[in-house]
Amino acid sequence: MLSITDLSAGYGEVSVLHGVTLSVPAGRVIALVGANGAGKSTLLRTISGQIRATSGTIEYRGQVINDLKPDKIVAAGLVQVPEGRRLFPSMTVLENLLVGASAPAAKLECAASLEKVFAMFPKLRERRGQTAGTLSGGEQQMVAIGRALMAKPELLLIDEISLGLAPVVVTEIFDKIADLASSGLTIVVVEQNTALALEAASYAYVLEHGEIALHGVASDLAQDDRVRKAYLGI
Ligand code: ATP
Repeated sequence: MLSITDLSAGYGEVSVLHGVTLSVPAGRVIALVGANGAGKSTLLRTISGQIRATSGTIEYRGQVINDLKPDKIVAAGLVQVPEGRRLFPSMTVLENLLVGASAPAAKLECAASLEKVFAMFPKLRERRGQTAGTLSGGEQQMVAIGRALMAKPELLLIDEISLGLAPVVVTEIFDKIADLASSGLTIVVVEQNTALALEAASYAYVLEHGEIALHGVASDLAQDDRVRKAYLGI
């Protein structure tokens, strides 16, 4: 579904990603792990068109999308749940969700998508008239996922979903991610919580200083000495 070859990107003079190659098969959950500042969010931002690759290719369903604008990438079904949720705090839950259905095709199916989101997160139905800024962290994260689902994604990029949330809420949200995966959605999870990411994914990539340092079947990586020492604290 997604194939990235020799990708480099950064911010102005600052080069962050150096020759990243990875692939995401349809219907799988792939984890991208690594320390603070390794370049995980930069990789997601490059895939979703927020920053431009300086070299290399990003192919989504066989089409090179390096030069596509972010709105076209979303309309094609590649949707990101950004780090820090990025909700509109003074808008209601419902209004925030509707922002996700901005592309014409998503707008057409807006009512059905909303029903699915509310079925997945019943709390959001209850709170649909409440301003997003007054929700708990976990509820805000549900809105951020819901907003992405409103865009009718085929590939979901989820950035640091566990950040700042209580463990019980993290478990609840990862259960929902597992449900989405079993419904056939392809998902890339970026996580500093390596144990959680390796449990949720079938295959994983470890990013170090903007390069893929290791990759493999997630359960194998969880047993790998380098991963255990550097990322699992074992
Ligand atoms: P974290 O989990 O802490 O977010 P990360 O692996 O996602 O880490 P990135 O956020 O991609 O890492 O950051 C990689 C590098 O890019 C860092 O050195 C960071 O300072 C730099 N960087 C990130 N965003 C910007 C920006 N907007 N302008 C300049 N440099 C940036």
